[in-house]
Amino acid sequence: MRDQIILACPKCEERNYSTKKNKRLHPERVEYKKFCPRCREHTAHKETK
Ligand SMILES: [Zn+2]
Repeated sequence: MRDQIILACPKCEERNYSTKKNKRLHPERVEYKKFCPRCREHTAHKETK
């Protein structure tokens, strides 16, 4: 059970990354520190649909 998720920057809402996660291990929305090329800094990217 692996589902594709999209990680979006919370500041500019740019969708910078897509990854996969196991929804049984992480049923809630996850955050990953990723580099946003638009903000040019690391932000806590959040899962979007
Ligand atoms: Zn950004």
